[in-house]
Amino acid sequence: MLSPCPSFSAGGGNAPSPALLESEVCNRYAKKASPGDSPPSAANAGGPAPRTTTPGCRRGAASRTAMAWRAARRRVTAPLLLLRQRGIASCIDPSAGLTEEQKEFQKVALDFAAKEMAPRMAEWDEKEIFPVETMRKAAQLGFGGIYVKPDVGGSGLSRLDTSIIFEALSTGCTSTTAYMSIHNMCAWMIDTFGNEEQRHRFCPSLCSMEKFASYCLTEPGSGSDAASLLTSAKRKGDTYVLNGSKAFISGGGDTDVYVVMCRTGGPGPKGISCVVLEKGTPGLSFGKKEKKVGWNSQPTRAVIFEDCVVPVGNRLGAEGQGFNIAMKGLNGGRINIASCSLGAAHASVLLAQEHLTVRKQFGEPLASNQYLQFRLAEMATRLVAARLVVRNAARALQEGREDAAVLCSMAKLFATDECFAICNQALQMHGGYGYLKDYAVQQFVRDIRVHQILEGTNEVMRMIVARNLLQG
Ligand SMILES: Cc1cc2nc3c(=O)[nH]c(=O)nc-3n(C[C@H](O)[C@H](O)[C@H](O)COP(=O)(O)OP(=O)(O)OC[C@H]3O[C@@H](n4cnc5c(N)ncnc54)[C@H](O)[C@@H]3O)c2cc1C
Repeated sequence: MLSPCPSFSAGGGNAPSPALLESEVCNRYAKKASPGDSPPSAANAGGPAPRTTTPGCRRGAASRTAMAWRAARRRVTAPLLLLRQRGIASCIDPSAGLTEEQKEFQKVALDFAAKEMAPRMAEWDEKEIFPVETMRKAAQLGFGGIYVKPDVGGSGLSRLDTSIIFEALSTGCTSTTAYMSIHNMCAWMIDTFGNEEQRHRFCPSLCSMEKFASYCLTEPGSGSDAASLLTSAKRKGDTYVLNGSKAFISGGGDTDVYVVMCRTGGPGPKGISCVVLEKGTPGLSFGKKEKKVGWNSQPTRAVIFEDCVVPVGNRLGAEGQGFNIAMKGLNGGRINIASCSLGAAHASVLLAQEHLTVRKQFGEPLASNQYLQFRLAEMATRLVAARLVVRNAARALQEGREDAAVLCSMAKLFATDECFAICNQALQMHGGYGYLKDYAVQQFVRDIRVHQILEGTNEVMRMIVARNLLQG
């Protein structure tokens, strides 16, 4: 474990380290360092070195050059490396209570997050890179169609297994994992509601992530009130002609397969059908790429239909079943997005834990301050509580229980609110450093803020829970 602090540290271990690195990551950095980067240190040259001997880490503003910050930015990584190092002794251990098999694929996902995602998450965010090749590597591990059936290339795992995997991947890059969760949801919708021909046509290339999918429900005029959508699909022989537009579509423009909710009948949910469109269909176009607070490793665009002709054979399920299919997809989607929030919160607790131990104020580590100790304890407690609610909902959905949809809404509401509060508190504990892009904690805060808004806002989640309670 090394401590490649860019500009602080010589003064007795009081360095707010932006990165929690293992030697392998440092080695990789050291090999790639170009002329003009901060000089390779004893630490990033490979061997373990105490923080105090790390060249390039002089205390004081003078040494904080633009070049040093640029180099530091490349070093920002996720704290799952710390998790691996500390083993399972912690009370927030995400493997507690899991079967041996679940622990195995959790480890695979954690390793993938630490090695393939965490070292790049800052760059993907800054340069707005959609990391297609990394996701295809993840798909080789079975993460492209986690709860899709194996006969069409899926992994055939349960909803709880899926939650465990998304939580683990999210520690490496929450934004990329969140897109993967939407892709998985689309693949599951085709697998579950498509006929055999459709399943075999679309699912294999989605599970391998040779092709990427988008979920198209929201429109400029219908967000929370999704059943009021207006995109029309008029029947013409063996085809539907689509006109209208979808807003805020994750992956839009960069993805290949669009699962679209459109109106084939009268007003309300029963007039909605679900069709699958492929990129390149005449009449299908995209809006400009949105500029976002977070989720920058995935594009968001409007999807536009202008006399867009789709074969009737691309409709999933029966006419009028589309809203039901969309909501069934979202039950799992809500668990998945909540799981991504768990990963971000876990990572942020570890970052805060590390920072409190290293940073000194008033002559002692911040960790000695009882107020901060109590806040850390609260963060850990809220994380474990949120994980329990999410895993409970995942089990209910897997078992097909009647209360599953409400439990999924509760899980999404509770976990995304709690986890945002945890990440935000972790940023606060970092003081001014938490506000700098060299420190990973701010990215977790930015990336999970939107989880309280999409896949049904948390106000809509409250409506679903309240309706269930008051129905009598
Ligand atoms: C980055 C990003 C990615 C997205 N990706 C997708 C995607 O891939 N596919 C897709 O279909 N959609 C996607 N969305 C859209 C998202 O699902 C919607 O933004 C969300 O459902 C809210 O709709 P809206 O933005 O129109 O807000 P509105 O519905 O206008 O709501 C505005 C506010 O009013 C509140 N509100 C509304 N009605 C009520 C009520 N009755 N009681 C109390 N409060 C209420 C809402 O909770 C919200 O706080 C994405 C959004 C974002 C920001």
